[in-house]
Amino acid sequence: MEDSVLQTFRDSIASVADADALVAALQTERLTSIRVNPLKISGFNLPKVPWCENGYYLTKRPLFTLNPLFHAGTFYVQEASSMFLEKIIKPLTEKPLRVLDLCAAPGGKTTLALSLLPKGSLLVANEVIKTRSQILSENLIKWGHSNCIVTNNDPKDFCFLKGYFDLVIVDAPCSGEGMFRKDSDAISEWSPENVDLCSKRQLRILYDIWDCLAPNGTLIYSTCTFNEKENEDVVSRFIAENNAVCERIELNPEWNITEREKNGAFSYRFFPHKTEGEGFSVSVIKKTDGNEYSTPKRIQQSKNFTILSEKNKQPYSHLLLTDNQLIFSDKRNFLWSFPQEYEKVLLEIASHCVIVHAGTPLVELLGNKVNPLPGLAFSTSYNSESFTSAEIDLETAVRYFKKEPLLLPNVEKGWVNITYKNVSVGFVKNIGNRANNPYPQEWAIKMNIDYNRLENSEFE
Ligand code: SAM
Repeated sequence: MEDSVLQTFRDSIASVADADALVAALQTERLTSIRVNPLKISGFNLPKVPWCENGYYLTKRPLFTLNPLFHAGTFYVQEASSMFLEKIIKPLTEKPLRVLDLCAAPGGKTTLALSLLPKGSLLVANEVIKTRSQILSENLIKWGHSNCIVTNNDPKDFCFLKGYFDLVIVDAPCSGEGMFRKDSDAISEWSPENVDLCSKRQLRILYDIWDCLAPNGTLIYSTCTFNEKENEDVVSRFIAENNAVCERIELNPEWNITEREKNGAFSYRFFPHKTEGEGFSVSVIKKTDGNEYSTPKRIQQSKNFTILSEKNKQPYSHLLLTDNQLIFSDKRNFLWSFPQEYEKVLLEIASHCVIVHAGTPLVELLGNKVNPLPGLAFSTSYNSESFTSAEIDLETAVRYFKKEPLLLPNVEKGWVNITYKNVSVGFVKNIGNRANNPYPQEWAIKMNIDYNRLENSEFE
């Protein structure tokens, strides 16, 4: 860190933490941690993140790009402090929840929430930056849940859903102090002026989205910064100006998480010199007033997709092992599956927002051909009886994710569901002398690979 920036940063956090110890910790190696997708694989024999059931610390950072199970959504690389959201969300999950993850890309908190939500829940994951919303979409398709809509909107665009969500997650854009040891750009971009700018934007985002929260609903506000301006000051000002209170979270003293309070705002702070995780702050705000959501009397059909009739969806219903799914077709003639019970809100969101994707990709209809979409393979509800399947080795799996044609000599011709370590990873069309690979170009591995040097990851 540059000396002058470092000194200014140090001074700015002196009232919050032991600034010297914190700055010293920021000069050390970051920790690497992953969170397992419990619907795809079981856990690892590794040290656990104490506040998250499926979180693990790794002893070193492997090259995830060369691990097919990484691409297949069996685990997510997430820094440990963020996994603390589990402690806040879990107690809310006695009933199905409607969740809005407002600043969601690339999807760390969204995938965590999806793994915690009970059956019958809906999650809308929004990201305002288009390119990031596509990465979010990829990560969520790979995580494999169908009860999810990805949108690409500004927070204020959701005002039509007044009182709809039981839980809103605002993992706010921030000055990124907690990323200092991860990302050298975060250091060069830091300045006290940017901290002020960020705190204004954070307050505005809370105001923009507040009406969408149901009465008694919960808003989780988090940042990866240490200063008070972007944390307690935003939260205390917001609860003072609205009918809201800040809730306390029960902590295990062994975790070394720091609880702070300022003007009624409780925050839970992760300081890297104390807690095993990167810099992070989270607060829980409860709404004490407001009106329940009421479904509009008339909901427009979407111009962008067509919902299939019971009869027309019949040939595709067997692809997933779930009931009560509606199937819709988009403009490309791709079919998608989505929970029937959320049809109305899907249509409502479609008429106000940019939907990047919704539900689970199924098949592409091309003339009289029915081609499975690559994303179907990642669904946690995929019916493995739908297509012939073939287990492939590490090199073949990496070649698949690099979008190379494969060789499957002793496998039937036609569409084949390929599995790696018994996890469904994709579909290829076996034509005998080779198998064509429809893996999306935008998801494909870009780096050059020396296939002789591939090795199994230490944590498989
Ligand atoms: N929640 C994500 C996760 O766990 O993977 C990380 C989110 S990151 C801290 C904040 C996100 O807010 C970024 O993806 C950024 O593009 C988005 N963002 C930037 N400006 C925004 C704004 N004005 N309103 C809403 N979101 C914004």
